[in-house]
Amino acid sequence: MNKAFKIAAIALASGLVGTAFAQDYPAAGKSITIVVPFTAGGPTDKVARDLAESLRKHLNNATIVIDNAAGAGSTIGTAKVARANPDGYTLLLNHIGMATVPSLYRKLSFNVLNDFEYAGIINDVPMTLIGKPALPASNFAEVKDWIGKNQGKINLANAGIGSASHLCGLMFQAAIKTEMTPVPYKGAAPAIADLMGNQVDLLCDQTTNTTSQIEAKKVHAYAVTTPKRLSTPALKDLPTLNEVGLKDFQVTIWHGLYAPKGTPAAVVKKINDALKLALKDPEFIKREEALGAVIANDARLEPEGHKKFVQAEIEKWGQVIKAAGTYAD
Ligand code: ASP
Repeated sequence: MNKAFKIAAIALASGLVGTAFAQDYPAAGKSITIVVPFTAGGPTDKVARDLAESLRKHLNNATIVIDNAAGAGSTIGTAKVARANPDGYTLLLNHIGMATVPSLYRKLSFNVLNDFEYAGIINDVPMTLIGKPALPASNFAEVKDWIGKNQGKINLANAGIGSASHLCGLMFQAAIKTEMTPVPYKGAAPAIADLMGNQVDLLCDQTTNTTSQIEAKKVHAYAVTTPKRLSTPALKDLPTLNEVGLKDFQVTIWHGLYAPKGTPAAVVKKINDALKLALKDPEFIKREEALGAVIANDARLEPEGHKKFVQAEIEKWGQVIKAAGTYAD
């Protein structure tokens, strides 16, 4: 082995290359791409774009580009990041789909626990059950009655198999013992647009997507999926699904930041440090809270805590999905 090669090999093995690389990260003039595995204008996209504004301030003012690699319930974008160069310039922002797709897809080209570095949980977001404006039902009792009378004719939008809306829809159908026709989209932005246009009947989606439409009375809102009512002005009068009789119906969506496996630990630390600072940005907090989201402020902010949480969520939702018996190939 020649000397230069030997030194490089030793440096690599000891992590020195990663450390030196991290000192310059992000290098001046280089942009960072955050892959969002759903369409632009939807709730996951909104979190990413809002976060990017605060995150970049703590990453040398780097330009952050959002890449909407949408489709197949987040698995297309997630696979893209699993295969990306592990240099910190390609990141993934995804939601609970990280924990549901391992059970919902028979085949996945990535492994959620082995193919990513975990950079921290961002927020928790409640969901809301909403209906198209033409529905002759303006509260939960009325929509329940309408569902009862329209068995076999109801369709339920979702953002693809493995998406949060799909998961919530599965739980809702099981809770009210009614099968509906799923209508999959590549994200919740086109799903809610079609709902507002009366093309689909129902949707269960994050408050970050539904609050402004509820406020503007462009959709009917029936209930929230949290154990307690929400304090957000436009949502505070909505009952919880537990209150209206669907016992133990609880689902809260979380978003997290990831880098491809092999991204140097010192770079992941820089991203995680920047995330922690961004989550303290009053502007970001204000934007999130107005839409019913709660900023993460616990052990899940640390990479190990984030990974442990995802592992527990994979087990938890795996049981729900197994009970629902739904799979995609
Ligand atoms: N809210 C969507 C979902 O159902 C995804 C999105 O467009 O953010 O998972």
